[in-house]
Amino acid sequence: MSELIKTEAIVLRKLDYGDSSRIIHLFTEEFGKLTAMVKGARSSKSKFGLTLDSINHVQIIFYKKDTREVQLIKESDLINHFTVVKENFERIQFASAIIELISNLTVEHEVHKKLFTGTVKALELLNNSRNDPKLIFAKYFLFFIREIGYAISYNTCSVCGRIIQSDENTAFNYDSGIVCKECKSDRLVHVELSKELFNLFICLNHKKNDIKYDQKNLDKIIHLIEKFLKYNLQEFKGLKSLELI
Ligand SMILES: [Zn+2]
Repeated sequence: MSELIKTEAIVLRKLDYGDSSRIIHLFTEEFGKLTAMVKGARSSKSKFGLTLDSINHVQIIFYKKDTREVQLIKESDLINHFTVVKENFERIQFASAIIELISNLTVEHEVHKKLFTGTVKALELLNNSRNDPKLIFAKYFLFFIREIGYAISYNTCSVCGRIIQSDENTAFNYDSGIVCKECKSDRLVHVELSKELFNLFICLNHKKNDIKYDQKNLDKIIHLIEKFLKYNLQEFKGLKSLELI
């Protein structure tokens, strides 16, 4: 028996299947990541096939059967297709990086409502042309690693656990994160953190929106988090969507 279920979802990927069907990878609010099929999605008669495009935020109704690997979509309604994002190369790269993180580093069928809500919010912010896409992505990246269990500690040294003073010269180790000035002198340190960079890390991790920053430091932070994830998660090979940035 299958149950008829309604949930919101972000479209991660779509693949053509057979003559006219399509397989859709989704990150859903209620069931985490799942794979579903839309029969006849590519036929001109399909009413909702077009709504299921990558990055779109949709509401779907599907027949849920736990014994089945691929669920069957009955209906799909568009909530947002992020027009501003899709018309801007830089914004689409950051939105694709978000999709890449969800696709590659979250577990199939694992429900994660906070991550879902945060992902929708980040895509909505990217879709507002007044917002700096790089800043939104940097904040999202830190939120994402926290939510999947790889939070970086800012108050205490990641090696000795001592509280870090606000005027201290810190450094970043790709294995462990931020290290204090003593630990920095007697172990392998990958990057010295200027006070400016250290403070930006802290600001990005808070909900504040009036952050002062320059683009170079944002690039450095995105790069540090990427390296940190690579060191901690062997399956992570870096963000392909950002290779051109
Ligand atoms: Zn230390």
